[in-house]
Amino acid sequence: MSDVVGYDGRAVVGGVRIGARSGATISAISPVTGTSIAELASFDADDVRNAVSGAAAAFESGVWSRASADDRKATLLRLADIVEGRSDEFARAETLSMGKPIAEANAVDIPGSVATLRWYAELIDKVAGEIPVTPPGSTALVSRVPLGVVGAITPWNYPLEIAVWKIAPALAAGNSVVLKPAETSSITALMLADCAIEAGLPAHVLNVVTGPGSVTGEALVRDDRLDALTFTGSTATAKHLMVASGETGLRRLSLEAGGKSANLVFADVDDIVLAAEKAAFGAYYNQGEVCSANSTILVQREILDAFVEAFRTAALGYTPADPLDPASAAGALVSERHADGVEAAIDEARAAGARVEGGARRTLGNSSAYIDPAIILDLPSDHRLHSHEIFGPVAAILPFDTEEEAIRIANRSGYGLAASVWTGSVARAHRVAGRLTAGTVSVNTVDAIGLTTPFGGFKQSGFGRDLSVHALDNYTGLKTTWIQHG
Ligand code: ADP
Repeated sequence: MSDVVGYDGRAVVGGVRIGARSGATISAISPVTGTSIAELASFDADDVRNAVSGAAAAFESGVWSRASADDRKATLLRLADIVEGRSDEFARAETLSMGKPIAEANAVDIPGSVATLRWYAELIDKVAGEIPVTPPGSTALVSRVPLGVVGAITPWNYPLEIAVWKIAPALAAGNSVVLKPAETSSITALMLADCAIEAGLPAHVLNVVTGPGSVTGEALVRDDRLDALTFTGSTATAKHLMVASGETGLRRLSLEAGGKSANLVFADVDDIVLAAEKAAFGAYYNQGEVCSANSTILVQREILDAFVEAFRTAALGYTPADPLDPASAAGALVSERHADGVEAAIDEARAAGARVEGGARRTLGNSSAYIDPAIILDLPSDHRLHSHEIFGPVAAILPFDTEEEAIRIANRSGYGLAASVWTGSVARAHRVAGRLTAGTVSVNTVDAIGLTTPFGGFKQSGFGRDLSVHALDNYTGLKTTWIQHG
């Protein structure tokens, strides 16, 4: 890993790289190398205000907000091509930033981001307005208009992809964007902003400000010129952003917060081994650092032993290894500190009398941010860990006897992001799916997600939807133009 070079950690404002006016930086410590891979500009409130000023002025100027749909589409398609052309570089930066295996960054994160850019670029000239029925002598047009300056605050588990989920529809609709990526994993967002300039996006339309959430993020949220705020991250921060936004001024909010998703495996499932393999994927993929991870696995008692046996085998496939090795299926957690928290949750389960298989902490190279996939069995069903988002490679398996009981356990976490159901009965699939409180219910698969379907949650998982045409609701308003002509 001696060939790891440092990345440019300066922010992107007005189409150029700039440091904080104070000169302050924070180190981006790679969980792969254990060393700093970038000195990120640490923006204070003045730096952020400056970025928002530019974004607001760009919006007012119309250089992007009133550009033709064809121009916006062509620019975003060029951006997609440029990112695609630099796929290897993006994948490597993503892996070094947050520890995911490079094979996944290459197969999922980067192509997913490129596809998202293309999808919204192609969408923008296909969304038509409405002409509602109005009294004779009048015609009303209802059109979708961009909101203005969109603040986007994003997490570290899919640094590029989730940033693009926000940026692509926001830009396609004509907004200006100020993005604050997670402090630990900002590099690919900065690279994206460089690519946007190369693609011909006017300066100040996409800005990336870096620094700690409590300073840089807070300053962004407190700027009363933000017309919309879109966020993905923890429920605690989402709640704070609602309060801070309310104190600052009315604006559109879309908040994708935490989750604690259940996977219900019924005894009438067609293929127990397939269900177990997919369940392991749902719990351990991306080191379990997925807001919709299916980390509570509810298995009907008749098939519990057979399921656990198959699950145990599947879990071994997520044993962490060098994230830069293309053969690795699991990598490092985002930081040693985060791994400490995951380890503490595993210890807590053990102390509560659970049987824990796996879950050992590992050191690879200079970093101890690695944890073996953990299976938690026999944890009392009312234990707080069953409703607590661990955000690591930890799955709890609980038996149930009846459909009612499974639905009750699945719905009690307080979150409402995702759920999965495995059954060979179409009637049961509909019955159970209809009663699960979740933005997405996957039947006979886990954690289904696609560009064309909305992603987001209910209850403590937040509101607003990423992906699909519905994401435009976060970044556009409906405008009525009423013409009286008779
Ligand atoms: P996680 O626990 O997954 O890191 P957070 O909610 O803490 O989730 O972080 C998600 C994003 O929110 C990050 O970009 C982080 O910097 C940002 N953030 C955290 N606190 C604040 C805050 N007070 N104001 C604005 N942004 C914040």
